[in-house]
Amino acid sequence: MGELDGRTALVTGGSRGIGRAIALRLAVEGALVAVHYGGNDKAAAETVAQIAEAGGRAFAVRARFGESGAVDRLFEGLGAGLADHGVDGLDILVNNAGIHSVSSIGQLTEEEFEYLLAVNVSTPVFVVQRALPLLRDGGRIVNVGSAATRIANPLQIGYTVTKAALAALSPSLANQLGRRGITVNTVEPGVVLTDMTAGWTGVPEAMAGLESITALGRIGEPEDIASVVGFLAGPQGRWVTGQTIDASGGTYLGPITAG
Ligand code: NAD
Repeated sequence: MGELDGRTALVTGGSRGIGRAIALRLAVEGALVAVHYGGNDKAAAETVAQIAEAGGRAFAVRARFGESGAVDRLFEGLGAGLADHGVDGLDILVNNAGIHSVSSIGQLTEEEFEYLLAVNVSTPVFVVQRALPLLRDGGRIVNVGSAATRIANPLQIGYTVTKAALAALSPSLANQLGRRGITVNTVEPGVVLTDMTAGWTGVPEAMAGLESITALGRIGEPEDIASVVGFLAGPQGRWVTGQTIDASGGTYLGPITAG
């Protein structure tokens, strides 16, 4: 028996990286998982197959966030997938899908910022709105933000602002939904080894620099984040709501003294 037996979950951006690890984690605990993805059919199919191999249940739902009608397509696919499995409610929503950009304030364009806002903020807001009628009492909403909101980096200002906006969603929603036993939290990863960071995590000097400012002395793996989300999504996380939880292995806490 898994602790999420009988539950259903939607993980946006569940086909790759952190989202894939979260989808796998929730499925291994027993949840039926809707693996949302933006366009990489192969990656989504691999995630669903990986879940099946691990003895779990999942289905894929395609919707390109930032395009008109994407939230409608997501919920049509979710409804159809749940119906195929004979269920009609949702217990866990993980707003994980997100995009990054590297721009200083001088480089950021309106077009770039609008797209960041569309994918990282507007879409999760309206995904929550559409999910609420399906979300059962005792449910969970977990938003995947970024430790960039704490660790200032002028070269990702657009991204940082969108992740701060996303984090602002949790306390208000938590207050609204708490009487139904629904919790809402934001998990903020530090740097994690995924496609999003592949451009520079292959650079040994960059990795060494990051490790040197991280208390736990290494770069994050997707499973490190999935463990935190798994805790919040499960029964053990029932007394945590409206919070922003740093999951960066203690990146940039202050001077590190050995011993
Ligand atoms: P990734 O690029 O490996 O995966 C991104 C996921 O989001 C994919 O599954 C993709 O399908 C989905 N996605 C992206 N754009 C989309 C769109 N337009 N429509 C629909 N889906 C779309 O990234 P990741 O590193 O796994 O990031 C997952 C989340 O974690 C993101 O919100 C990211 O901002 C956050 N995060 C990542 C890191 C990191 O270092 N990797 C650090 C902090 C926060």
